[in-house]
Amino acid sequence: MRYRASTLGSDGVRVTMESALTARDRVGVQDFVLLENFTSEASFIENLRRRFRENLIYTYIGPVLVSVNPYRDLQIYSRQHMERYRGVSFYEVPPHLFAVADTVYRALRTERRDQAVMISGESGAGKTEATKRLLQFYAETCPAPERGGAVRDRLLQSNPVLEAFGNAKTLRNDNSSRFGKYMDVQFDFKGAPVGGHILSYLLEKSRVVHQNHGERNFHVFYQLLEGGEEETLRRLGLERNPQSYLYLVKGQCAKVSSINDKSDWKVVRKALTVINFTEDEVEDLLSIVASVLHLGNIHFAADEESNAQVTSENQLKYLTRLLGVDGVTLREALIHRKIIAKGEELLSPLNLEQAAYARDALAKAVYSRTFTWLVGKINRSLASKDAESPSWRSTTVLGLLDIYGFEVFQHNSFEQFCINYCNEKLQQLFIELTLKSEQEEYEAEGIAWEPVQYFNNKIICDLVEEKFKGIISILDEECLRPGEATDLTFLEKLEDTVKHHPHFLTHKLADQRTRKSLGRGEFRLLHYAGEVTYSVTGFLDKNNDLLFRNLKETMCGSKNPIMSRCFDRSELSDKKRPETVATQFKMSLLQLVEILKSKEPAYIRCIKPNDAKQPGRFDEVLIRHQVKYLGLMENLRVRRAGFAYRRKYEAFLQRYKSLCPETWPTWAGRPQDGVAVLVRHLGYKPEEYKMGRTKIFIRFPKTLFATEDALEI
Ligand code: ATP
Ligand code: MG
Repeated sequence: MRYRASTLGSDGVRVTMESALTARDRVGVQDFVLLENFTSEASFIENLRRRFRENLIYTYIGPVLVSVNPYRDLQIYSRQHMERYRGVSFYEVPPHLFAVADTVYRALRTERRDQAVMISGESGAGKTEATKRLLQFYAETCPAPERGGAVRDRLLQSNPVLEAFGNAKTLRNDNSSRFGKYMDVQFDFKGAPVGGHILSYLLEKSRVVHQNHGERNFHVFYQLLEGGEEETLRRLGLERNPQSYLYLVKGQCAKVSSINDKSDWKVVRKALTVINFTEDEVEDLLSIVASVLHLGNIHFAADEESNAQVTSENQLKYLTRLLGVDGVTLREALIHRKIIAKGEELLSPLNLEQAAYARDALAKAVYSRTFTWLVGKINRSLASKDAESPSWRSTTVLGLLDIYGFEVFQHNSFEQFCINYCNEKLQQLFIELTLKSEQEEYEAEGIAWEPVQYFNNKIICDLVEEKFKGIISILDEECLRPGEATDLTFLEKLEDTVKHHPHFLTHKLADQRTRKSLGRGEFRLLHYAGEVTYSVTGFLDKNNDLLFRNLKETMCGSKNPIMSRCFDRSELSDKKRPETVATQFKMSLLQLVEILKSKEPAYIRCIKPNDAKQPGRFDEVLIRHQVKYLGLMENLRVRRAGFAYRRKYEAFLQRYKSLCPETWPTWAGRPQDGVAVLVRHLGYKPEEYKMGRTKIFIRFPKTLFATEDALEI
């Protein structure tokens, strides 16, 4: 006789509203706020483990979704599942990505506020998969736009193209995104997707010229070689075998069992057409991909004076043709460096090592600038028609952020420094927004705000980004002293400037005990998520990202239309130094934070269960790390600081009214009064709960569990 909102659970079995509460011994709680011992990391992990064992990969911390990569197809993303989560209340169905998708979409529609879904986690945790499922959800469930229906396809098809150029097989993930991505989807006033825009962050371009053992270059190279038509390869002067290309053999793993390059290429080729590539543009793009491979095979030999000479005539011939540059100029540019001194141009010959450096720098620049161009091209094809019309104001925006999580390796360098700085910024935003929304809810409900103690990581962000005194500023300063500064002088300057900072340490500054664990060329930052030791080797070089002037000049003369967009003559005449990599990254992050701040946030925290990429394996040590680096315990503490549970009066009364003769079977008055009668009948003590304007707030889970258990009797 009792009311039960029954539905199909994410595991496919029939569950009842919050049945995870009643079956909590087996499947754990579906919201971590309901953990009795919420400060204990062990019980947090135990809850994750129980749910993972039952294939319940999703769990909440209040509104935050925690997701554990199952490494198997759970069949939980079908159209049927989408329908099941549409229009239902967040807490009345088992946790699911689609519940977040739907809640966010409804907020967008009803409150007309821009939304941002931030997805984080380490490599292989499932961020990109989650992003794709979300996009799929919107593409399938939202109404079709009145005009420009193609945008929906383009939104979906931009993915395989970006993945071909920006993803690679790494040791951690066979399809690892080697760039950060923020994508806006624009909706018209009827809730139909009408446009989009993508921002990309810090493509890992070093991969173009070097891969670690067991890793690959970007997918597109292998796809083209495997899947390209005979005629295309002939035109590009390419052989099918990836082993022929030095830029593809470093990792010694051209073939990957989980990847089908040939069929992926078909998908990419089709997708290029959908996102408005003309046949000519495809040719131009492939010419660039092929030139990178040819560049990698350019060899040098030393003449009597130890100066480098190009010995690869065939490669040079193809490069000249594919890039549309002058052959002699290119040859000379590869083996000389042009220096302008006292208004005079001097050509200084390069030795073998310098020539190889220049060649690799050119390959990286060509590839990464093409990637940037590609993002721009996709953006033009996603540009909302409505955005140009006067009614553009009526569009609302839903942002999806798929960005690298905290990275701590054996060896951490400039890239990890940038990535971890990015995570500090996002953590700061997270704390700010979570605390703010908690506070706002309390205020809206008329409940006194109880201040929460938390670690404010602004101090670390400042350490990295502050003007003059911050690490990036000091690094940039050293980059201004070519010939004199080295990675080690950068470290010394750091030591002098930030020596007393509580979050900064080097060998020299450390005490006897910690000194042993720190090398002389290293510095250590105490991040919000833990310590990371960075080696300064390569910091200056990577931050400078130098491309010799004569190579730039050569490329500026390129007849390949994409290249000529990528290399602009203004770079040559401009006296101003180009911004360094770290500073560019910092600026783009500040812009990103502003974008995110202007939106209503939602969070998805992804966890990788094991390093073997296998289903069913729950590696506790690895997971504990991630719980720490994702700041989940802190998140839970903030959420639980006041009340463990809160629910609208209507929902609460509906669920528990059978426990009180006065409210059963129907309560005629206001739901709030009904709840008051109900909890009095149940014997709730005043300190156990508070009545807000629209919701009841319950302080401890045990109160709720007792009530829940009463239902079972
Ligand atoms: P990176 O930072 O390296 O880009 P990522 O967090 O984006 O990593 P994904 O590429 O999304 O990781 O996921 C890695 C792999 O894990 C996927 O290719 C897929 O095989 C598997 N996977 C991830 N999420 C799911 C899921 N929800 N269901 C089934 N398999 C999944
Ligand atoms: Mg990814």
